[in-house]
Amino acid sequence: MTQDQYSIWWVRRDLRLTSNPALELASREHREVIPLFILDPVFIRSAQSLRTDFLFSGLIELDKQLRRFGGKLFVQVGQPEQVLRRISDHFQAPIYAEEDYTPYARQRDEKVSMEVKLFLTRGLTIFHPDEVRTDNGAPYQVFSQFKKRWLSLQLPKKAEYDLESITFARAQRLESKPIPEPKTSVSSGETVGLEKAADFLADDGDIFDYSFNRSRMDRELTSGLSPFLKFGMVSVDALIEKAFDLLDNPLLPSTQRSAVETWISELIWREFFQAAIYHFPHTVTKSFRPAFDHIAWNRDENDLLKWKSGCTGYPIVDACMRQLATKGTIHNRGRMIVASFLVKDLLIDWREGASWFMHNLIDGDIAANTGGWQWTAGTGLDAAPYFRVFNPILQGQKFDPNGEFVRTWIPELREIEDKYVHQPWQSSRLGKNANSIKGYPFPIVDHFIARSATLNAFESAKNLFG
Ligand SMILES: Cc1cc2nc3c(=O)[nH]c(=O)nc-3n(C[C@H](O)[C@H](O)[C@H](O)COP(=O)(O)OP(=O)(O)OC[C@H]3O[C@@H](n4cnc5c(N)ncnc54)[C@H](O)[C@@H]3O)c2cc1C
Repeated sequence: MTQDQYSIWWVRRDLRLTSNPALELASREHREVIPLFILDPVFIRSAQSLRTDFLFSGLIELDKQLRRFGGKLFVQVGQPEQVLRRISDHFQAPIYAEEDYTPYARQRDEKVSMEVKLFLTRGLTIFHPDEVRTDNGAPYQVFSQFKKRWLSLQLPKKAEYDLESITFARAQRLESKPIPEPKTSVSSGETVGLEKAADFLADDGDIFDYSFNRSRMDRELTSGLSPFLKFGMVSVDALIEKAFDLLDNPLLPSTQRSAVETWISELIWREFFQAAIYHFPHTVTKSFRPAFDHIAWNRDENDLLKWKSGCTGYPIVDACMRQLATKGTIHNRGRMIVASFLVKDLLIDWREGASWFMHNLIDGDIAANTGGWQWTAGTGLDAAPYFRVFNPILQGQKFDPNGEFVRTWIPELREIEDKYVHQPWQSSRLGKNANSIKGYPFPIVDHFIARSATLNAFESAKNLFG
């Protein structure tokens, strides 16, 4: 066994065989690659969400693909540093992995690199957070400035290699545990992700209507790629490259050009939030603006429960929350509406909402989720001003104009007249003393009264501690 015969490709959030910098490096420097996934026993015990089902299906799919190339995905159970030391010692193999910027991942990788030779590569984002800094070397705190610098940088070369020429370790090389069976059937993995991306970015794809359609909650016209990006089943390099290719067409009408640019901007928001937790890891649990950690939050469990279960009496909020509990997803506009409602109408700490989202979202990603919550709450980096409060009735009327989305998730409102679907308590058919419609409750708070109480609470924290 020579020193450089084996390498370990430690699969974490890069469940793909194409455009994969960690795999590229592992195969370039060594004759045989051992693809390895490590399951933490604590994680398996608590694994019961749609997100873990999505992950397990993705692992099964990756294993199938590897078998087409003569290899397999090896699965081990245990603490990463212990598992890796054992295997790395046995095969005299260094480890290659895509860098992950969450505080948990960084601590884990630090521990691992004390035990074994670990090479971290780019891949989760186009640019490493350290590459997008101000002229003085400081991290950006304002998105528009981050975006400007990001766009001025030369895109890195996409990882390219011939999969046929990579030798993957055969099954006999190492023992492997079975991949846990997903409890629900979900469409996951690189093949599905690539198909979705190809459809969205095709010449007649939905990307060209993105500016216009992206906020409509009664349609599903965004890419739907977030869970695939979360687990690296599609490469962000490939998506960005394709989107820029579309802009190269000189005949592209200006509305379509601007739609493609808007979509690219969303991917840059993703990079902004990844950079944010890298530079400011404390923001996962603390407000970026410390004064807002002194808000006198409402701790009423009942209010929180009504929000979680979709029983606030505001149809657009409740439809989203019911969709989240059933499908593990909410449209971006819906995420902003329900987050605003929890924080600004119920005055409940944004961390309660962020944690419920992480529990339920298939695409649950610490960076994007923390960024989205702190942005909506007005406590974060380049956040919406805290006094910006979404009006749940107007938002519903604007982004679900016929109430189609609401009716899908709230059967109690299927029969209601269109004009009342976002404010059913106004329905002329109801008697004066009614307080619900077929069991669907009337609002638990008055939006305008609640809004003003919240603004006072934010204002006080700002004045006393800002
Ligand atoms: C309160 C809140 C919580 C959120 N939590 C998450 C989360 O846990 N995981 C997650 O991936 N996204 C999160 N987002 C961002 C956004 O809602 C989703 O990325 C988007 O809805 C995914 O749909 P799509 O793939 O069709 O996106 P598209 O509209 O097609 O956008 C393309 C990609 O860009 C990225 N993106 C789009 N919008 C944003 C954004 N605002 N911030 C960061 N990245 C973005 C995503 O990776 C997305 O897949 C959150 C937003 C809010 C307001």
